Amino acid sequence: MLKIKQLGLKFFSIRFYSSDAIRVRFAPSPTGYLHLGGLRTALYNFLFSKSKNGTFILRIEDTDQSRLVDGAIEQLVKDLTWAGIEIQEGPKVGGNYGPYIQSQRLDLYREQIEKLLNNGSAYYCFCTERRLDLLRREAIKNREVPKYDNKCRHLTTEEIKKNLEKGEKYCVRFKLSSDVTSYEDLVYGKITYDVALNEGDPVIIKSDGYPTYHFANIVDDHFMKISHVLRGLEWQISTTKHIQMYRAFGWDPPNFGHLPLLLNSDGTKLSKRQNDIKIAHFKEKGIFPLALLNYVVNAGGGFEKDLQQNVKMRIHTIDELANGFDITRLSTHSGRLMPELLFEFNQQELKRLLKNEHDEKELLKEVVSLLQEHFKKSSVDSNLQLDEDHIRSILHWSVNRITKLSDLLKNDMLFLWTMPKSCKLKEHDINSITELLKELEVQDEFSREKLAKFLKKFADQQNIKYSMFMKTLRSVLSGLKEGPSIAEMMELLGKNSTLYRLRMGMKVNQS
Ligand code: GLU
Repeated sequence: MLKIKQLGLKFFSIRFYSSDAIRVRFAPSPTGYLHLGGLRTALYNFLFSKSKNGTFILRIEDTDQSRLVDGAIEQLVKDLTWAGIEIQEGPKVGGNYGPYIQSQRLDLYREQIEKLLNNGSAYYCFCTERRLDLLRREAIKNREVPKYDNKCRHLTTEEIKKNLEKGEKYCVRFKLSSDVTSYEDLVYGKITYDVALNEGDPVIIKSDGYPTYHFANIVDDHFMKISHVLRGLEWQISTTKHIQMYRAFGWDPPNFGHLPLLLNSDGTKLSKRQNDIKIAHFKEKGIFPLALLNYVVNAGGGFEKDLQQNVKMRIHTIDELANGFDITRLSTHSGRLMPELLFEFNQQELKRLLKNEHDEKELLKEVVSLLQEHFKKSSVDSNLQLDEDHIRSILHWSVNRITKLSDLLKNDMLFLWTMPKSCKLKEHDINSITELLKELEVQDEFSREKLAKFLKKFADQQNIKYSMFMKTLRSVLSGLKEGPSIAEMMELLGKNSTLYRLRMGMKVNQS
């Protein structure tokens, strides 16, 4: 008997593997914001479906009404979209298998529970909270794992009828068995867990009429024609229970694969309370979506050998990741995030974006709004230089020095956008700068190489100390003590701004 069942299971796991039927879902509870662990699950589902021309579905599991957070669904959709994960079916986009929010599918659950009650796979339970509490205490006293003793399994039809007529409060429980104790996990291989030995019969419809996660989850996976369930490792222990429920309905279960834990670099657990694992937080910090995806993928693996080795070296686009995705290569060891790589990926992504005209334009807009915001807040009464050419040349120049756009607002970069404050010049400096202005005016090429040579020669000809003169020029051009070389600064500022700044520096001293 057992053998036949196991064979049956094997049959289930290959059944759905044809590419036209690949349907996966990300099924979060709207209890907060999307965090790194959730993003990882969503991403791997997305890559899997994309690699097989499948469909990625967002389903909201909100049957625990006490844990809802206002606006969480909108934020989830926003965060996923920002990350580049395209929702093909879901609450906002719709689809043929909706609604995609469980609280809007209660009629379906009500209809389906009847089937299990009628075929004897589920039963009414009238045990009171008080009784359950006593059971729990008793177990703890005896140093046993607390579990329901399945008492109401044995109620007669008469007793049930009477209780229902009396209006007794009830829930519905699923009858666990030891018939299904193992399944083939797409990531971990054969998993054996006799759930009936470890748990009492689980509640599937609560006394408030809402289904529990386990019931709604499998009903929805079935009716939404989900072919592959890829979810966090914490759900692996529930899988034989879920397969038993599919059996009870006479349905084929989907394929199951569990994703290993994602940990901090020191091996500690990522906590939802850690503010810095919220996706919105990374966005605010100036992390580009693709950099974040590469960061997550780097900790998890699951790619063809070449790509896997390359993951640390360069940023991969979603298409590249999807093409190289191979679920059988997913590690079964916990993945560790390496925070030091996050900004490295971000810099690589910045470079990649600058290579594309459209992306470059978007970056320019972003820089303008960052600068405007910054200077509005700092209430510096300054002359800003925000023309496109200026910003473009600065971005290209700075790309090896910055890891995120907001680095352009660091103190030593501010000279690029604002006129320096006036500085006191000595008479010999004024004379040198007057001469320099004359020569710079006729200088055609304003490249750093040319300027570097020119400045050296100029100092020689004028018989002035080169390093001292550079220090003076730095103050006049930027108002700063450190920064790029003067030739580089001049190139960055361009001829007009350079001459303008030099003249202004002189003017202040002459007046
Ligand atoms: N709602 C569950 C969660 O919050 C989904 C688990 C599953 O994918 O089956 O993670």
